[in-house]
Amino acid sequence: MQSKITRIEEKLREQDFRLTPQRQAVMEILLSNTGEHLNAEEIFQAAREKFPDLGLATVYRTLELLVELGVVHKLQFNEDCSRYEYNPDGDKHSHHHLICLKCGEITEFDEDLLDELERKIAQQNNFAVTDHSLRFYGYCAKCRHSK
Ligand SMILES: [Zn+2]
Ligand SMILES: [Zn+2]
Ligand SMILES: [Zn+2]
Repeated sequence: MQSKITRIEEKLREQDFRLTPQRQAVMEILLSNTGEHLNAEEIFQAAREKFPDLGLATVYRTLELLVELGVVHKLQFNEDCSRYEYNPDGDKHSHHHLICLKCGEITEFDEDLLDELERKIAQQNNFAVTDHSLRFYGYCAKCRHSK
């Protein structure tokens, strides 16, 4: 985790931001919960164990900044809240998500067949595609069997 924190600190410094203890606390929570897709409230609760003075507003501001700097991905799976995950590759996009409509479980998958589609869309619409995001909604194995 320390080497990742160091890399994040460098990235922040490149853009004239410091890795304040609050920012580090938020990043540590995200780094120790990869694949979890926590929301701001959950990050706040977890970070507060180490950082009793931390406020929820600070967590929100910190997350917004980290998203802006490309260190964190913001994910919008439904209307009620945003979820966050560490974005190790910076601008490069990494994985997509399967979202269970019943239990809310979020599963990641890496396979990406969209490169060809991106090229096609770009060509047909004279549009420079820089990224895409994809969500599949449905029912996980557990929920399907309990119906
Ligand atoms: Zn489910
Ligand atoms: Zn994810
Ligand atoms: Zn993709």
